[in-house]
Amino acid sequence: MHEYSLAQSLLESLRAYLREHPVPGRIRKVHVRKGELLVLSEWALSQAWRILAEGTELAGSELAVENVPVRVRCPSCGYAGEARYLAEEGWHMAVPILSCPRCNAPVEVVDGRDLAIVGLTTEEPDSL
Ligand SMILES: [Zn+2]
Repeated sequence: MHEYSLAQSLLESLRAYLREHPVPGRIRKVHVRKGELLVLSEWALSQAWRILAEGTELAGSELAVENVPVRVRCPSCGYAGEARYLAEEGWHMAVPILSCPRCNAPVEVVDGRDLAIVGLTTEEPDSL
């Protein structure tokens, strides 16, 4: 299951990070950025996170997912920015074919296909 293994690798990298950089207070939310090219179910990801976090210091935390647009770079003309989707109108959840809006050459994806942790929301240790 795609979401399950993604949640697991997120959890493992976050726990490794927290061993090096402990935070005071309980972690309530883990903010992640999800690229548009990464096709997954946010619901399944959150469920997997909840199950996997059980019994760890992250138990009870939730994932807050932010979607980020795809950004590309064109090796032919140097264009950098948003991609043009070649997928036909009406396609749904198709893997998009990306091309340069300026010269139509195939482009390199520089952002928009990863899942990355970008921040944490913690509860103040002394708050009620
Ligand atoms: Zn180009």
